[in-house]
Amino acid sequence: MPAPSTAASLYRLLPSLDKVLQSPDLEAAVSSHSRSAAVSAARAALTRIRAEIALGNADEASVRSQISALTTTIKTDIQRNAQFSLRRVINATGVILHTNLGRAPLGRSALDRISEVASDYSNLELDLESGNRSRRDVHAESLVLRVLAMKTGFQPEGDRLQRALVVNNCAAATFLILNSLADGCEVIVSRGELVEIGGGFRIPEILRKSGAILREVGTTNRTRLADYHSAISEQTALILRVHQSNFRIQGFAERPRLDGLISLARKNSVPLFEDQGTGLIVRLGSRASDTESSFSRSFKKGPDVIAASGDKLLGGPQCGIIVGKHDLTQKIAKNPLMRAFRVCKLTYAALEGTLMDYLTGSMECVPVTRMLGLNSTEILRRCEQLASSLPREAITVDVVPSHSLIGGGTTPGKKLNSFAVAIRHASLNANQLANLLRQSKPPVIPRIQKDSVLLDLRTVPPESDAVLADLLRSIGTQVIGSEPSSPAHVDGSM
Ligand SMILES: *Cc1c(COP(=O)(O)O)cnc(C)c1O
Repeated sequence: MPAPSTAASLYRLLPSLDKVLQSPDLEAAVSSHSRSAAVSAARAALTRIRAEIALGNADEASVRSQISALTTTIKTDIQRNAQFSLRRVINATGVILHTNLGRAPLGRSALDRISEVASDYSNLELDLESGNRSRRDVHAESLVLRVLAMKTGFQPEGDRLQRALVVNNCAAATFLILNSLADGCEVIVSRGELVEIGGGFRIPEILRKSGAILREVGTTNRTRLADYHSAISEQTALILRVHQSNFRIQGFAERPRLDGLISLARKNSVPLFEDQGTGLIVRLGSRASDTESSFSRSFKKGPDVIAASGDKLLGGPQCGIIVGKHDLTQKIAKNPLMRAFRVCKLTYAALEGTLMDYLTGSMECVPVTRMLGLNSTEILRRCEQLASSLPREAITVDVVPSHSLIGGGTTPGKKLNSFAVAIRHASLNANQLANLLRQSKPPVIPRIQKDSVLLDLRTVPPESDAVLADLLRSIGTQVIGSEPSSPAHVDGSM
């Protein structure tokens, strides 16, 4: 531990703030950013050295070395401070709904709606006809119902009249529905559906937190209608059906069809709540079997309440959409917790923009729908074009068949045929190369397969191909020494 006099002499080694700022080395950084950015970065750097001295962690050699690195430290700081934490990245993983990468990218219509609605005041809670205060949930409601009606050709009437509500996400929707309709009462759930949806969202725990009492029926692999039937009692408030969105039970497995469960629920006057999850509205076509659960198919079959995610296969903003019978949704809307789960105007704007694309038949404008429908021949063509534009000095480039995933816990095990550009670097291993790509501007997130870095172009917007090519060209011509790497692997899980 240095003596106090030593500390004082160490402080004397430090240059003044003015002197640091006059350093010619900082001139460019100061002029391309602002003087105040340079001042605060320089002040912070000097403060850090002073703190080291005060703590007794410094000696003359360490202080001198920090002083000589001062301008470099300050320049790095200025650049880092000018950067946002949340940034756009190029997703070259081929996982369409990548939870770590923000799930669904928004389409033009959604972005335009956000920009228009948020740049000035809006009628968020004002009825323009009467001038009276109104509810915010009216905004997306009619579009949600019209899109579902249009896609299914089904228009609910009478006691099946529906309402739609929007909350923060599907997890919030599920919680709110259980709390509004089953607090203190029993909810019947198949043991095969007591699942973890992801990110710690476990059905039994959510159920308990909501105040509902879990009444498990059947077994993990087999649950029959009769199991549900015999569990119905005076205490039953709800039957819950959870879409098996992120897993499959194969082999000796059985669970009732949704129709069967709906008629059982109706016969016994118990409401049926389906946690549908994926929010799929269009057909996945030949890419999925006809038994694939979808938001629109559920809407047509008519469980009493359905919850779906806004930013999975619907391709909209993060939100949870609740569609259900009038009396039930009324109860949900009146729950005081609705105030805590409500969404902001940006979400309504983005959701309306996305739904309008469905309504006008411009589904291809919704990026998730477009990426799902991309032809692998088209992806191959783009891969070949990209590959042919790259230098072969420091890298080896191949175009290889690949499988894209839908991801986001929506369609377990479902793969889409695709192509990828596979890159190997002369002096970097795959992890190091992936690291380098993540540090580039904009960051590129690849997939690693064996000793190659794969760039699956299905999830790369075609307008980003050129940016990607530029980045790869600069990496491909640099022969870089082995850099320290921390292989932070991003996976496609929830
Ligand atoms: C994804 C999913 C959820 C959670 O949705 P979030 O919008 O992420 O909260 C709930 N239930 C099912 C069946 C899901 O697939």
